[in-house]
Amino acid sequence: MIKQADIKCSAKHINDMDYVRRRIAEQINLKPEDIGDVRIVKRSIDARSKVVQYHVKTEFVTGEGQIDFQPETFSPQDVKSSEPVHIIGMGPAGLFAALRLIELGRKPIIFEQGKPVEERKIDIANLHREAVLNADSNYAFGEGGAGTYSDGKLYTRSKKRGDRDFVLGVLHQFGASGDILIDSHPHIGTDKLSGIIQNIRKAILDAGGEIHFNTKITSFNVDAGVLKSLTTADGERIDVKQCILAMGHSASDMYQWFFDNGFPLEAKAFAMGLRVEHPQELINRIRYRHSVKNPFLPPAEYAAAVQTEDRGVCSFCMCPGGSIVPAMTEENTVVVNGMSNSRRNAKWANSGIVTEVKPEDIYQLTQDDSPLAGLKFQQWLERLASQNAGGGMTAPAQRMMDFCQEKVSADLPDSSYTAGLVSSPMHFWLPEFMTNALKSGLKQMNKNLRGFYTNEAVLVGVETRTSSPVRIPRDREGFEYTGFSGLYPVGEGAGYAGGITSSAIDGLNVADKIVGQ
Ligand SMILES: Cc1cc2nc3c(=O)[nH]c(=O)nc-3n(C[C@H](O)[C@H](O)[C@H](O)COP(=O)(O)OP(=O)(O)OC[C@H]3O[C@@H](n4cnc5c(N)ncnc54)[C@H](O)[C@@H]3O)c2cc1C
Repeated sequence: MIKQADIKCSAKHINDMDYVRRRIAEQINLKPEDIGDVRIVKRSIDARSKVVQYHVKTEFVTGEGQIDFQPETFSPQDVKSSEPVHIIGMGPAGLFAALRLIELGRKPIIFEQGKPVEERKIDIANLHREAVLNADSNYAFGEGGAGTYSDGKLYTRSKKRGDRDFVLGVLHQFGASGDILIDSHPHIGTDKLSGIIQNIRKAILDAGGEIHFNTKITSFNVDAGVLKSLTTADGERIDVKQCILAMGHSASDMYQWFFDNGFPLEAKAFAMGLRVEHPQELINRIRYRHSVKNPFLPPAEYAAAVQTEDRGVCSFCMCPGGSIVPAMTEENTVVVNGMSNSRRNAKWANSGIVTEVKPEDIYQLTQDDSPLAGLKFQQWLERLASQNAGGGMTAPAQRMMDFCQEKVSADLPDSSYTAGLVSSPMHFWLPEFMTNALKSGLKQMNKNLRGFYTNEAVLVGVETRTSSPVRIPRDREGFEYTGFSGLYPVGEGAGYAGGITSSAIDGLNVADKIVGQ
């Protein structure tokens, strides 16, 4: 019979199964040799206790038996000649929708405006080296979507365990380390993600799916409330019956198309702010305190959420041992985000520090209450950031205490942002409600993270693409667009998901609905 035990384990011994077996034996008053097969089910770092250690949930058997644990995997069918479902966008939502369609016997035909990862890598290198932006191939657009060059954090608040386990299992099947199956805060790292995406591409093609790179869909042709065909940027028409729209939240021209053609969209609250960067070593000291010298602990993470006078402020997409990257998709704008490699071994820790932006905030400032008001506000801020940084990929920056005390920074600390920082009085030109919320929020975060509020940290602007400012409404049951039938908006761009895992889960669910599971 399989039994369970929750144990504590030092970081030094977390991968030592004999040690784990001894800890289980101690806990249940048996000898280590009485414990047979052991499996770690979950592990998480408890940084609150004096000696920082892992909490480990284990399964074990006493005696001879084996624990038969098989992670979830993708089980393809041959879909070469099956009825197609078209998919726009090859980010996590589009990719996982495609995999599920194949499992259910339908042929995915994917259109991706960007390039395969091997070529996308070159455009991203050019972005850093030459400050040249390719509008269709960058940190947001291209094979694997916005998730390819990321930290690859995989946690989600989704309660549907089966779906989450499937996403993690499939990522593992295609090359991610087995650690993602047991870590409470799993992450992959950008150095591993592109290989995993290439393996998923191969699996889709091997099963008979189709992928069309460098193919941007520019419009939908609708007749009597029914989607009939798609038009590409080259003017080609493609007849479709069922089409999944997995375009991500940076596809502003798509939102514009719906708006210009009188189809329904909804404004939604989202979050914007700045990205903060501390030396990782400082975050380790804050989080690990007495255990900071322990060489076996991973670079420390943090998460912070505080309430200011009229709105919440929280950390977003924290990247330990990572770097800040230019994530813009349009010329003359600045957008920053963060990523890290699998070892998280860069010397900085970065995180978005963002505050809620509600449609009523935007209305107060702009008197615009259209569904695209949030998108326009976001674009305005991204242009303003670029103007204040002097153009190119250069980003505006300010030391943290200087921002809060409304002082211009005389100099800036070293930063991972290789495209260049310029000192700018961001407290002055950010919308007042954002400056006030961020000033108050950053100081409050210091209560739980002593040492966080420091001029050693630099704030880099602007973090605008946290989630979509627009929702493409769909009928809750069927996932079908309310504007016309045959279109299934999904993932982050549809406004129903945020992050890699929840977008992937949304893709799975839409595929299930389309096939009637
Ligand atoms: C630098 C960075 C780091 C991040 N780190 C993390 C992280 O660690 N963890 C996490 O959970 N999330 C992270 N995110 C967010 C995460 O990547 C997104 O939430 C996720 O990728 C959304 O998935 P999606 O499939 O809905 O859309 P996307 O990933 O945005 O994919 C949409 C795809 O559609 C394509 N497309 C758009 N319009 C068209 C069109 N008209 N025709 C054809 N193709 C089109 C795009 O080129 C794109 O490839 C990060 C994002 C960035 C930019």
